[in-house]
Parts: sequence; structure tokens; C-alpha cells
Amino acid sequence: MCSGRVDLEFILRAFSNGMDGVFIGGCRLNECNYITHGNYDALNMVLLCKKIMGHIGLNPERLSIEFMSSGDGILFTEVVDDFCKKVKELGPLGKSEEIDQDELKSKLEEVRKLIPYIKIVKREKLASRLENKEEYDGFFTGDEIDKLFSEVISYHIDPAKCQACMICLRKCPVEAIAGGKNQIHVIDQDKCIKCGTCFEVCPPRFGAVNKISGEPVPAPIPEEERTIVRKSKKK
Ligand code: SF4
Ligand code: SF4
Repeated sequence: MCSGRVDLEFILRAFSNGMDGVFIGGCRLNECNYITHGNYDALNMVLLCKKIMGHIGLNPERLSIEFMSSGDGILFTEVVDDFCKKVKELGPLGKSEEIDQDELKSKLEEVRKLIPYIKIVKREKLASRLENKEEYDGFFTGDEIDKLFSEVISYHIDPAKCQACMICLRKCPVEAIAGGKNQIHVIDQDKCIKCGTCFEVCPPRFGAVNKISGEPVPAPIPEEERTIVRKSKKK
């Protein structure tokens, strides 16, 4: 498939499944047969992933991308040979980085859960075109990635403000919101991909969805306390 189809999820899934290295081969830059030039997207994704790997303590050299044409057989064998040698030198994933296997698994899982969020936050950079190699190194910085993870945004529905209009529940792309008629709505934080849609669509007169950054998300209101008693029915 086109290298532009290689998602961050595919790379991290390979590492989660125990691969010691991931190599992506793409067509030469500026020689894409289509207007999409997906190989530039692949390059940006790899640059981002390398920084994320550094953030969680993995050696970024375990990931490589190279561009070549179908006529570059010799080049292909050379770069793959070199990459395999490098990965062998690094040893099994986690061991040379001195990360315990369980810790590694949970770190990778945590990052994988945030992939949709990361792609939303970094969408402009991921869509840009780097025309020369000098730009690759500093395109994503370590500080930027540390900040990305330390300032992760979560969304929470304020039970005192929710009027159970059900708009957010209908618009959530991953069915992460539980609710119903006259029921205070609640976000399942494990399912939420942090797209921000509920925040955007909650009517301003209710303003019930809060953005939270750098603080724990309040626990969901217990199910037995979610029914909204309207004033007319209180009598
Ligand atoms: S932020 Fe997106 S995924 Fe999360 S609950 Fe809101 S609409 Fe659903
Ligand atoms: S859109 Fe706002 S008021 Fe309506 S159910 Fe969702 S959180 Fe509650």
C-alpha cells in the first residue's frame, strides 16, 4: 500500500506486538503518481513517531523510513540490510533501553490510546511538506512532545449543567457518551478519543462540557443520581 497509509497506530502496534524494529519503504519524494504525495505524510508520521518513541524511552533508531523506486533493487537490499544490522545491534525491544516488558507494554498502550488526539493536535504539521533533509531533525522537538503529553486535554460533562438534550451523545464518533432522555450524560474516559466534538456541539446556553488539562477528571456521577427532575414535575 501507499506509505501515506501507514498510520501511527500501525507502527506502535508493531512495537506492541514485540517487533524490534519497523522499516517503511516509500516511493521517492516528488515522484508520487498521484496528487496526494502520501510519502510526505509518511515522513511526517515517522518523524513524529520517533520523537514519541524518545519520549517513552525507546530508541528512535528502531524506526526507519527510506524512499526509493521499484527499480532501486540494490538500494533496497542495502538499506534493509543496514537496518536489520542496526536493529540486531540494539537487541530486543525494551531490553537495551532497560525498560521492563510490562512497563513497555503499558507505555505503548497509553500512547496508542492517545493517537486520535495526537493526530488532531498535530494535524497541521502532519500535513506539511518538508522539502529538504535539514528540516527533518527539528521538525518535532522533544519539548513539544513532552508538552503534548503533559497537557493532554480531557472532556467532562458537568452534571449540574447537563440538560440531557442528547446532542453530544448523537455526535460523538465513538459512542463514548452514556445518557438518555432526562438522564445526565456521562463520558466514558476509556472510550473517549478527545476529539472535542461534544465541547463544540453542547449548546452555549447549557455549556455543560468542560475541557480539562493537567488535572484529574472528576469521577462520573453515580447512575442512580443521573435522572433530571424537571421543575414542572417536582410538584
Ligand atoms: S471528546 Fe469526542 S470522543 Fe470524547 S466524548 Fe466528546 S465527542 Fe466523544
Ligand atoms: S450536549 Fe450538553 S446539555 Fe446536551 S446532553 Fe450533552 S452535555 Fe448535556
